[in-house]
Amino acid sequence: MSRRRAEILAEMGLVPVWRLRRERSSPVLQSVAEASAEVQGVPLHEQAVVATSSEARERHILSMDWQALKGKVAGCTDCRLRATCKQTVFGVGDERAAWMLVGEAPGADEDRLGEPFVGQAGKLLDNMLAALGLARGADVYIANVLKCRPPGNRNPQPDEVAQCAPYLLRQISLIQPKLIVAMGRFAAQALLGTDASIASLRGRVHRYAGVPLVVTYHPAYLLRSLPDKAKAWADLRFAVRTIAAAG
Ligand code: URA
Repeated sequence: MSRRRAEILAEMGLVPVWRLRRERSSPVLQSVAEASAEVQGVPLHEQAVVATSSEARERHILSMDWQALKGKVAGCTDCRLRATCKQTVFGVGDERAAWMLVGEAPGADEDRLGEPFVGQAGKLLDNMLAALGLARGADVYIANVLKCRPPGNRNPQPDEVAQCAPYLLRQISLIQPKLIVAMGRFAAQALLGTDASIASLRGRVHRYAGVPLVVTYHPAYLLRSLPDKAKAWADLRFAVRTIAAAG
């Protein structure tokens, strides 16, 4: 950055100037920066404001303890979704869990009750966990990529994902799970920064934010596609073996 530009930013009160890190540990975090950069037709100095404040916000969130993080999510209005949902859905479970399950976004039931996976899909998920001898709250933490319900359960938008990404990252770094299970195409693609299909991502150990990650079908999809239940069960047994190998 030129001295003149640094002086202009300083005059505008935009100091310290946070620079985007060259290497980022996660594709979702990358999308935070990319979303900031997607400001079309905005003068350069205003783009600097966006990038600077986005980076500072992210750093702030990544430094929070549980209490601060829960408060921040509960009061978050940083994207359009909070205007249409009933409440934020933070996540639920054992804050020292080995298993972290990540879905897409709250649906109508979750929006009403404030807890992830409480509808029919959630019942199926609980049954599958029980079959492994697990339960939500006992060595399992469940969260979503998005903390607010998109209206009518529409697909999440990239800027909504980018705003919410630091919350999930902080949840992961506070929990330090042994394994993340990404449930469904959206969660898998968002976390891994890919548009690959679930079928091609299953059966392998990926990594997200340094944590081993496996991919399986979304429980809501399994309710509609009974034959794939057997594949999801194979994924969960693969997850058990992956956790065992992690020691
Ligand atoms: N689907 C999700 O992805 N998450 C929920 O919490 C509920 C349904």
